[in-house]
Amino acid sequence: MNSTYFSDGLPTPVPDKQGPATPFWQGLVLNTLRIQRCRRCQSWQWGPEYICSNCHSFELDWIEVEPKGRIYSWTRVWQAPQPVLATATPYVVVLVELDVAPNVRLIGNLLGSGTQDAQVGAAVAGVFEHHAASHPPYSLLQWRPAD
Ligand SMILES: [Zn+2]
Repeated sequence: MNSTYFSDGLPTPVPDKQGPATPFWQGLVLNTLRIQRCRRCQSWQWGPEYICSNCHSFELDWIEVEPKGRIYSWTRVWQAPQPVLATATPYVVVLVELDVAPNVRLIGNLLGSGTQDAQVGAAVAGVFEHHAASHPPYSLLQWRPAD
């Protein structure tokens, strides 16, 4: 069994090393989820930006948060969007709203058979998925049902 949800062969995401999302990607490698929060107005923000979208401050921090949330929306994929995924269908894609930051919604896969139940509002927990052998190496945040 693979240690990653999908088999090898998908295009490798290459995070921009100089972009505003760098701390997010670096955190995933270290099994931590980091989300931007404005030091001035305390707003959480996603996706990563150089300024606060609420008060336009440049004083943004990266805060380590628990990778826990609830399914905000989901879909089951039956038709592979890429040939490499032909044997991976069906699989579930979830949009997860973080418990700590309700305006932050992250996309990922709901780990499991692909035919498992998924419900809006269901609790989920993050699973750090490492692609250490990839060039360059990277990590993703996937999701599993939580109690
Ligand atoms: Zn702000």
